[in-house]
Amino acid sequence: DFSVRLEMKGNDELAQLGRAIQTLANDLAYLKQERSEFLASISHELRTPLTYVKGYADIARRPHLSEEQRANYMAIIYEEAEKIEKMVKDLFELAKLEQHSFQIEKQPTNLCSFLTKLCEKLRPAFQEKSLSLVCQCPGSVMAAIDRQRFEQVMINVLDNARKYAFSGTTVAVAVHLQKQGIVIAVSDEGTGIPPEDVPRIFERFYRVDKSRSRTSGGTGLGLAIAKEIVEAHGGTIAARSEQGKGTTILITLPEG
Ligand code: ADP
Repeated sequence: DFSVRLEMKGNDELAQLGRAIQTLANDLAYLKQERSEFLASISHELRTPLTYVKGYADIARRPHLSEEQRANYMAIIYEEAEKIEKMVKDLFELAKLEQHSFQIEKQPTNLCSFLTKLCEKLRPAFQEKSLSLVCQCPGSVMAAIDRQRFEQVMINVLDNARKYAFSGTTVAVAVHLQKQGIVIAVSDEGTGIPPEDVPRIFERFYRVDKSRSRTSGGTGLGLAIAKEIVEAHGGTIAARSEQGKGTTILITLPEG
């Protein structure tokens, strides 16, 4: 009986091992699929600006163009090259963040003064679109943040608010202390996001309106980068939105 029990135990362990190998194989297949989809997205995203660069460079070198025409073509080439540069920079940043091969340098920071200063710095860009940018913070809220990277998070989120807010409205950054920690809410009154797209905006390359975002210079990577950084701080990032009304991005951070 003992040997039967041992054999059963042996079989059990083998079966367990078999299941573990199957799970690993499934994970590997999923990662492989994800990697090829990611590579396909990168080539797709880079192809469009490259097509413009190539096309306009070809036209710009034709003889008998006026100075003005040539300058126009050159300006388009420059703009598209800038988009490629931003995309490559963002991709590099995201790759570093996802491999966790970056050192996060947290320093105790008064979030209120940090955010107030950042709002001051960004306000002129908002005023250009007749938007007011307000920062509401209860005085002194301490958090351990990597200032440079957290500034990147706020810039990415605020840049979207600036792009999608209706002209003449207010974009608000509000800090609250709640049970789950510090909550930073960035609210805009603007186009909003359709409900089915809300959970997807933190995915790499995800854009609600591809053509509109392209003209406004987005890479579709800003929120994916923001998510990686916030999570590296032990925080969370989420969106609430109502189409045609506006969007609120909620960032939580541990206190301290
Ligand atoms: P992008 O570089 O295109 O802005 P993001 O990752 O920052 O990429 O954002 C992804 C998409 O989420 C945007 O293209 C846009 O469709 C949507 N989005 C993000 N923030 C807002 C907002 N405040 N209002 C409306 N749509 C937004």
